Order: sequence, then C-alpha cells, then structure tokens
Amino acid sequence: RKTDIIKIEDFLWEIPKSFREDMLVPARVLCFETLLDDILEDRSLNQLVNVATLPGIQKASFVMPDVHEGYGFPIGGVAATKLPDGVISPGGIGYDINCGVRLLTSTLKIEQIQDKLEELSKEMYAQIPSGMGKGGDIHLSAEEMNQVLTTGAEWAVANGYGVEEDLAYIENNGKLVEADPDMISEMAKKRGTSQLGTIGSGNHFVEVDYIEEIYDEEVAKAYNLEIGQVVILIHTGSRGLGHQVATDYIRLMMNAMPKYNIKVPDRELTCVPLNSVEGEQYFKAMCAAANYAWCNREVISAEVRTAWKNIFQENAGELKLLYDVAHNIAKIETHTVNGTRENLVVHRKGATRAFGPDFEELPPKYKHAGQPVIIPGSMGTCSYILAGTKKSRELAFGSCCHGAGRRLSRTAAKKQVNAPVLKEKLKERGIYIEAGSFKGIAEEAPIAYKDVNLVVDTVHASGIAKKVAKLKPVVVIKG
Ligand code: 5GP
Ligand code: MN
Ligand code: MN
Repeated sequence: RKTDIIKIEDFLWEIPKSFREDMLVPARVLCFETLLDDILEDRSLNQLVNVATLPGIQKASFVMPDVHEGYGFPIGGVAATKLPDGVISPGGIGYDINCGVRLLTSTLKIEQIQDKLEELSKEMYAQIPSGMGKGGDIHLSAEEMNQVLTTGAEWAVANGYGVEEDLAYIENNGKLVEADPDMISEMAKKRGTSQLGTIGSGNHFVEVDYIEEIYDEEVAKAYNLEIGQVVILIHTGSRGLGHQVATDYIRLMMNAMPKYNIKVPDRELTCVPLNSVEGEQYFKAMCAAANYAWCNREVISAEVRTAWKNIFQENAGELKLLYDVAHNIAKIETHTVNGTRENLVVHRKGATRAFGPDFEELPPKYKHAGQPVIIPGSMGTCSYILAGTKKSRELAFGSCCHGAGRRLSRTAAKKQVNAPVLKEKLKERGIYIEAGSFKGIAEEAPIAYKDVNLVVDTVHASGIAKKVAKLKPVVVIKG
C-alpha cells in the first residue's frame, strides 16, 4: 500500500526494512509519483519485498519505472548479492536469458527512404524469420553449437554472418568467458539448433526508426547520431535454448535448496549460493546461453544488412552497430557498498547496464560519453537512446530501465484492441507493421505499455542515465 512507502526524493521511494521481518535490506522504487499508482496495481512491489529477503543481498532490492510483475522477481528489477556465498537466482534473470537490444545506425536520412517503407517492411519480414518456435536457415552441428555457446558473437563473425567491427560495440564484446557448453542440457541444445538468426514471438521485434530529436549534442556526436538519421533496433534473446536452461536449472535448484538451508517467501525465488556446485553450474550455463543470444543478434544484423542492400542497393551504405546491451542477465561486478569495494553478482531482469564515462570496457569513442543505453517504447510511440552515468553506480549498481514496461496483461490487451484496425491506423501515421499474427499485434499494442516518455524522464531526472536522442518508428517486424 502507498502508505507503507516513504518518499526519499521526487523519483525515489522506499519500503523500509522494518516493513517485514524477513527483509534483509530495504526495497527501493525509482519512479515519479504519477507512475506509482500504476505500479501498485499488480504484485510487483510485493515481489520486490520478497527479493529483499534473499541471502547475501546488498544495499536494497531495486525496481525501475518500467517495472511490472514477473516470475518471482519483478521485471524491471535489480538485485545484487555479495560473493562468494550470496545467492544466484534464475528468476532474477528471467527465462529469456540475455534478452537484449541492439541499435544499428545507417547513413540514410528519413527523406531518402520514405517512399520505400512498404517495400522495406516486406523485404525485412522475408529476411528475418519470426514467430513462436520458428527456425532459420542455419542448422548447427554439435560442434558448431559448442562454438556458439563458447564464443558468442565471434562465431557469427568467423562464419560470415557478422562484422568484426561490431564486436567492440557489444556488452562484454559479445562473449562471456565463464560459459561452459557442457553445463547445457541436450534438450536445450536441440531447441537452439535451428533458431540462430530468428527473433521469436510477441514482444521481440526488428524496427526501423529515425532520430526525431537530439537532447545532448556532445554525446550524440560521440555516438555518431544526427537528426533525421535512420536507425534499426533489434530486440530478442536466446530463444528456446535459454528458456530450456532456465527451466532445467529452476528444477535443479528447487531440489538443491534445502541442502543449503535457504528459505524463500515464494518458491519462484529459487536460488543457491553462487559458490555452490549448482550455483556454479547455472552461472556457466547462463553465460553460455547469453553467448547464444549475442550470436543470435549478430546473425539477425546480417539479415537486416542483406535486406538493406536489396532495397537500397548502391545507396545502402554501411549499417554500424551503436551498441548491444543485455537486459536479462547476471554479472559479476565490483561496486562500492557502504564505502567498501565488494564483488557482487548483479541480477538485472528487465534492466539495462548503464555504466558511465571511463568504464574500461567501453570502446575509445565512448570513453567520455558513457555506455549507450537503449530504451524501446512500443511499436506506435517512440524509443530512446540514453547514456549511462557515474551516478547509476551510486544509485542502483550501474543499472537503468529497459523499456516502457507492460501496463496491460496480454489477455487484457487482446480484449481491448482490434488489431486489423490498429495496423491500418498506424499505416496512416506512416508506420508499417509486419507480424506473424493479428493476435501478436493486439498483445503488443501501444496501449499495452506505459508512457515511455514518463519512464525515460524519470531515469533522466534521477541521473542514472541521460537522454541523448528520441526515435520514431516507421517499420516494425514483430514475432
Ligand atoms: P521486454 O524485454 O520486457 O519484453 O520488452 C522491452 C520493452 O520493449 C518493453 O517494455 C516495451 O516498452 C518495448 N517494446 C515492446 N514492443 C515494442 C515494439 O514493437 N517497438 C518498440 N520500439 N518497443 C517495443
Ligand atoms: Mn525476450
Ligand atoms: Mn527483452
């Protein structure tokens, strides 16, 4: 209830540790007051309080303004536990391991592609396999699968599906070295065999946008962004493979938990210490699934590049990767907690890493600007590019929101939306949608999401990321 929440700043709220006996740290909500009422409507703050009870949790459990209810943990959440024996929880990462977004920049301006949008949407839809369970053209042998799981986006580059230069512009360079393919079940590998280069269903998409507004000229220059410039957003993850890894390890951990004497208020919060046998196994499997996802987004980029060449021919120019960020992942990172440097496992579920300037992993071009943060809105509204800041580390372990966040359940959205009408209306506004089904369009209608402007204004005001550019969609390929 709202009366249990204390306002700390205009954009920061706290449910104190005293709220429930089993809380180890407070629970914090980053949002403007106008968003709070929406957030209180589902179970997400209940879930946030539950997360605050996890063994080893540091500082606070956090949610971003795009928060909504998820499996155990809320989506839009950040939780960090202290190594070596703090817990790792698959529910704090999500079923779609390394779901994430990347953005490609083009050399074209919106005026140059305006009369080709419909053609472009058809060609992109033809090049990029989409839809639930849908496979692509690549069929991995057992050995190739192990290489993908071990080397991530590098595999795509080495096998003609990627661009070498992209690697420097991917979080962790598109490869987590802790990955171990032996920790992934045959079933999971089987589900991943033919899904590289596919986006999957529903919320996942490939979208063509143009830059409508620039807020920070200096950062925009470092990122090579200009008004009117056409860019492409790609949102998907590790497909059936990641989902199977999550399923396998949730089952395994449920059985292992009693051994470590861990009790959680919700069985969906299943977790084990990271330094336990099961914890280490899951971590290595999660890293491997994350590598699969980075490889997937690299292969999809190759499909986009092909469609681009086919439509724009000698004017196509190069599509360059601005950045690729994960929003369902756990990372081992060092942060300052109460004045001490601590090694932590930072769970980001529906949350984006948002490190500021001088972060050593950033490519030289971005060293002064900070890490690009990509925030999609919805197929009919707008999306944003932001830049990470130093303050994000102080506030929420270097994290930011990952989208506008769902407001309506899929079922509720389907009830309210007439998809064929919506598709026509969007077309009148110059937005061409190609999707596998009208059901998918209805579930993903703009009214199903919160107001992305409000969400982004919150994170900007709080200082965890700053606004750089606003994007408007023109072509959307949906799963
Ligand atoms: P999630 O990973 O939680 O499914 O989605 C991330 C965010 O993507 C959502 O919170 C939503 O704001 C945004 N989103 C969903 N569909 C679309 C779309 O078709 N286009 C854009 N630009 N954003 C979308
Ligand atoms: Mn996903
Ligand atoms: Mn996602």
